[in-house]
Amino acid sequence: MPAAYTYLDHNATSPLRPAAFDAMVEALQAGGNPSSVHRVGRTARARVDWARRQVASLVGARPSEVVFTSGGTEANNSALSGAGRKRVLVSAVEHDSVLKAANGMEIVPVQGNGIVDLGILEQSLAASSESVLVSVMFANNETGVLQPIADVVRVAHAAGALVHCDAVQGAGKVSVDLHSLGVDYLSLSAHKFGGPTGVGALVVRSNVPFLPDRLGGGQESNRRAGTENVAGIAGFGAAATEAGNGLATREWRDRLEASLLEIAPAARIYGASADRLPNTTCISMPGVRAETQVMALDLAGIGVSAGAACSSGKVTRSAVLLAMGVEPAEAETALRISFGWNSCFDDIERLIATWRDLYIRAGRSDISRARAA
Ligand code: PLP
Repeated sequence: MPAAYTYLDHNATSPLRPAAFDAMVEALQAGGNPSSVHRVGRTARARVDWARRQVASLVGARPSEVVFTSGGTEANNSALSGAGRKRVLVSAVEHDSVLKAANGMEIVPVQGNGIVDLGILEQSLAASSESVLVSVMFANNETGVLQPIADVVRVAHAAGALVHCDAVQGAGKVSVDLHSLGVDYLSLSAHKFGGPTGVGALVVRSNVPFLPDRLGGGQESNRRAGTENVAGIAGFGAAATEAGNGLATREWRDRLEASLLEIAPAARIYGASADRLPNTTCISMPGVRAETQVMALDLAGIGVSAGAACSSGKVTRSAVLLAMGVEPAEAETALRISFGWNSCFDDIERLIATWRDLYIRAGRSDISRARAA
């Protein structure tokens, strides 16, 4: 990242924490296959076991419940197939790695504030006696809206369904506890809170069914075949250990949102009436397309995302905002700002000042366009 660049896109990827970098370098230098019985292999195994304990403790799970994966996408895919249920019910605002993971899944709508409609979930569960998996995310990647997971679990378990929760955006940012939430499967990804990309975990509660989708060796207690990504896992463990340090505060987010609304009173903050992650703001800039905002802010040395940041880099309309009932034209003006462990208050001040300039400039060009017409 260039020096003096203000990076406010932690929900896309949070920069690697120094402790994670050090743990990875150490693991790469040491080498070894955790399945080998000699000393080098045993040292690699000890690293993986240590990381497993750190990740488990981050989410209140037992180390034996943690299955390392190649990231959040794989964790979500394997939860949906591994639960082996006939019906899969998912909320309308899930990440694509859930929405595209199974054919014929049923979508449960959300309300205008982004919260899943529990009444409709309950009705859908009652509609058939087939075995069901319910998948509802912990926190939304675009709006930061937190779902009432304990309520989802209560309703789903009462109907005999299993529950998967994609906690990729929650873990490491706010407290996430597998056992107090009561979920059966929980997805995690290291790079959302200062670990490396390409590593994550599916936490599978003891005694729930799980059919592995990767077959081969007996790694991960026969739940995910393939030699472990030791360096990635070591970095994940180190990031999990430090997850609580230097986290963005809600006061910053509130200050940011109050200032932006003062500049543009017609701007809208999505999910504002719901509980949200303290690091995430999704806001429209009336009349200015998100791509324009992202490019202008980038030129000014600030990195943020359009409401829907796509893997291809191409911005599409946000399915999350549309599911919340936002008009398509308005959804195209939504910007996602997300801070993290290395953000500071000056970053917020800088963003506010640059956003103000951009809004004023955009207004002027609107006026000159109107005059020219
Ligand atoms: N789930 C959510 C909510 C996400 O935001 C993301 C990444 O953006 C993923 C899953 C996928 O995680 P990964 O990038 O580790 O595959």
